[in-house]
Amino acid sequence: MTEPFLTRLATRLAVLALCMVAAGCTVNPATGQQSFTAFMSPAEELRIGQEQHPKILEEFGGVYQDPGLSRYVGSIGQLLVRTSETPNLNFTFTVLNSPLVNAFAIPGGFVYVTRGLLALADNEAELAGVMAHEIGHVVARHPAQRYSQAVAANLGVTLLGVLTNTPHISRLAGLGANLYLSGYSREQEFEADMLGVRYLSRARFSPHAMSAFLNKLQANGALQRSLKNEEGRDPATSLLATHPRTAERVERAIASASLARVTDPIVAKDIYLNKIDGMLYGDDPEQGFIKGRDFIHPKLGFRFRAPPGFRLFNSARAVTAMGPNGARILFDSAERRDDEPMLYYLTSRWANFLQDTEAIDVNGMQAATGHSLTNTQKGTMDVRLLAIAFDARTIYRFIFLAPVSEANSRSVDFRRTTYSFRRLRRGEAASVLPRRIKIIMVGSGDSLRSLADRMPFEDFRLERFQVLNGLASGQKPAPGQMVKIIAD
Ligand SMILES: [Zn+2]
Repeated sequence: MTEPFLTRLATRLAVLALCMVAAGCTVNPATGQQSFTAFMSPAEELRIGQEQHPKILEEFGGVYQDPGLSRYVGSIGQLLVRTSETPNLNFTFTVLNSPLVNAFAIPGGFVYVTRGLLALADNEAELAGVMAHEIGHVVARHPAQRYSQAVAANLGVTLLGVLTNTPHISRLAGLGANLYLSGYSREQEFEADMLGVRYLSRARFSPHAMSAFLNKLQANGALQRSLKNEEGRDPATSLLATHPRTAERVERAIASASLARVTDPIVAKDIYLNKIDGMLYGDDPEQGFIKGRDFIHPKLGFRFRAPPGFRLFNSARAVTAMGPNGARILFDSAERRDDEPMLYYLTSRWANFLQDTEAIDVNGMQAATGHSLTNTQKGTMDVRLLAIAFDARTIYRFIFLAPVSEANSRSVDFRRTTYSFRRLRRGEAASVLPRRIKIIMVGSGDSLRSLADRMPFEDFRLERFQVLNGLASGQKPAPGQMVKIIAD
């Protein structure tokens, strides 16, 4: 046992002892700061976490169904937690079935990584780096602080939801996305890095794995920006946007954490690649696809297009499109009763305060629409509701929201989106296949080009292959090495 470890242990015991003496102690054991419990008790954090957890699953594609992978990710998380200042705190680690590249934590020790992020990591150490950083946020109680701020800012929109009997309306304000994905401050990031690199080195990973992976995320961000079919994906949902930091800043955290040197650190590349072999890559056809501004649902058999300047987000129960100046579109479904006319549904079952209601035809489907002015925290908004009868049992619904000052110009956009809603043609659904990660061994005759060309993409194959495998430009995988490709 090394000397610094004993010193740290002594400090921790001293803090614990103080806490036991002073009832209601509010010193955070990791950071030594006082104010963390001022706004929320640990029990309250846990209650909020348990309440939010199902909503996170709904928002981010649910749990990725691979029990072996889940256990593996959970075991790395628990290993790191045991090295933290709160080794007995209950943590729940979840792999989300989302193609977004992200990881985040909510109050109560709930930590999430997406399969999109797992696809980019190349070894256990890189994954551990991401998780150690999130655990650092939890130990420092940053998610609870962020939660309090986000809730206070979004109360106005919740009122609108009550008014229109639309439970998912909180997404119109981006409550879902903002609440879980809004960025931390630089100070909080630095603190999470300081704690994260501490846990990493105690668990015998190299703390530099954290900065190495950040560089890969940056390369991926640059690639995503140049892919035109990703145009609609919001960069605000990436890990880099929600955790504003650079490899250089992580290195600074490593330097100031004065860590003992990790000799022979764990990398575990082959174990890691074996665990993600066969993992779903990109969108899951079961949940519908976002392609630029188009939303296509092969399983349910429809598609529509958001206006220029809008970005689409997909979740299990609703699709949201975020536009400029608070303009929003929310799309979801409802149950249709007894072939009811849409005008009846719109005015009697959905909302009873609409003006200018009318029955319309949307590409052969019966529909009805109407609008109203509503006061929100963001000012007076024009709210247009649209209900489309898809079949005898199913209604698809749009809510279009725009600041009243822009209502006229937006109404052209919203009308276009309305009439872009249509059934998929025969064969249109079958052309969308799920893609998976495949681990292969580099052969002696393989070149960068030949490896990249095995992937079913129309463009940027080489760049995608390099980013996926964390290869710097000019770097070539050696024969016998394991690499990732994407396969249908
Ligand atoms: Zn962070």
